[in-house]
Amino acid sequence: MSTECLFCRIAAKEVPAQMVYEDDQVCAFKDISPQAPVHLLVIPKQHIESLNLLTEQDRDIMGVVMERVAHLARQFKIHESGYRTIINTNQDGGQVVFHLHVHILGGRAIGPMVARSS
Ligand code: 5GP
Ligand code: ZN
Repeated sequence: MSTECLFCRIAAKEVPAQMVYEDDQVCAFKDISPQAPVHLLVIPKQHIESLNLLTEQDRDIMGVVMERVAHLARQFKIHESGYRTIINTNQDGGQVVFHLHVHILGGRAIGPMVARSS
C-alpha cells in the first residue's frame, strides 16, 4: 500500500468510493467521472504502478483482475450488448492515476477505438 496513491487509499477505505466488488485481492468501484452509463474501475489491491511495472509475480493477480472484469460485465448486464476495457499507460496512454486499473465502459455504443487526432 502506498499512502500517496489514491487507489491504494480507496482500497484501504481511507477515501470513499462506490464499491461494487471487493475481496482480499481485488476491488472494483464506479468511476467518479463516468464516461458511459456503466463505468467501473477494477484494481488489484496491491500497488502496481502501471503495466510497465508488471512482472512474472503478477501473473496470478492479473488473471484474477480480468476474471472479475468478465464477472462484473455479466453482473451489470452489459456482457451481451458489449463493452470496452481500457488500461491506460503513461502520458500518451492518458494515465492519470498511477495504480494499475482496468476501465470497463458499457451501456451505450462506446464509439471509435481511439480518438482521431493529427
Ligand atoms: P486513467 O486516466 O488513469 O486511466 O483513469 C483514472 C480514472 O480514475 C479516471 O477515469 C477518473 O475519472 C477516475 N478517478 C479519479 N479520481 C477518482 C476518485 O477519487 N474516485 C473514483 N471513483 N474515480 C476517480
Ligand atoms: Zn496504489
